[in-house]
Amino acid sequence: MADKWIDGALLAATTRQEVTAGIRALAAKGRGVHLTAILVGSTPAGELYAQRQGQACEAVGIAYELRTLPADADQETVAGVIQSLNHDPSVTGIMLHLPLPRQLDPTDLQYQIDPVKDVEGVNPANIGYVVYGHTLIAPCTAMAVIELIKSTGVTLRGAEAVVVGASEIAGKPIALLLTEQMATVTLCHIATKDLAAHTRRAEVLVVAVGKPGLITADHVRDGAIVIDVGINRVTSPDGTKKTVGDVDAEAVYPKAARITPVPGGVGPMTVAMLLKNTLRSAELLGTNR
Ligand code: NAD
Repeated sequence: MADKWIDGALLAATTRQEVTAGIRALAAKGRGVHLTAILVGSTPAGELYAQRQGQACEAVGIAYELRTLPADADQETVAGVIQSLNHDPSVTGIMLHLPLPRQLDPTDLQYQIDPVKDVEGVNPANIGYVVYGHTLIAPCTAMAVIELIKSTGVTLRGAEAVVVGASEIAGKPIALLLTEQMATVTLCHIATKDLAAHTRRAEVLVVAVGKPGLITADHVRDGAIVIDVGINRVTSPDGTKKTVGDVDAEAVYPKAARITPVPGGVGPMTVAMLLKNTLRSAELLGTNR
């Protein structure tokens, strides 16, 4: 048998090919795909992330524009930029780079992005549409998790799914999309009593907490599909830094049927889902939805 790792990078490459084909089909109808990302305050990390995002967009045919605003920009200024992009017919997608400087309220600004142009699926209207079964744009990380699970061939309908972590950005939307797939979903969080009692029931276990080593072999059912959303920078005993997830992958690997690596699992698929959503936004703008 092939190894048990779920190859997020490979799946992301396939998604990028599909997005490229979709963008060509729109171009053939004379329609472009244009993502504008807003970065408030310029840090080397923020600039680098935005630069890589721009390269990922351009590789699939998405025109990418970065609007950089000064670090002391106030709420009204950033909101004004979002409103102007909402009304600009040449802009088909909008996203706001986080974190923002402290004087800004990120939630209030995300709420102002036109739901159809909201390529990250962060406007609450988009969560609401998912709840009511009329999905416009779903949050990227949650979509990535669903695609990774589906790639294993497991049937989600009726499956026992446990999500650990209940944030607005990751855990809650993941639980919502699993419910949409007709899985039986348990959502665990910091106040959950006896975490292992829940996770040991999981045929599909998704972990999005931000604590390295939280999930050990003792937490995992034999033959489970394990999706590790966590991204943690840790220092090895020899002093080198590395990125790990929330799952003790070495200990869990023998028990799991399939497991995502960190890095190389959810991360690359989340980026691919942003590209897919950007295409979807452009397609939706051409309809009366
Ligand atoms: P967060 O801090 O907003 O939320 C953490 C959640 O974990 C909370 O709901 C909290 O109740 C829960 N939690 C904390 N300790 C727990 C414990 N001991 N047992 C059970 N639940 C516990 O974090 P977040 O923004 O959701 O991010 C979680 C992790 O996922 C981070 O490592 C982050 O970097 C990563 N992440 C990755 C992607 C990606 O694309 N790969 C996207 C988003 C977040």
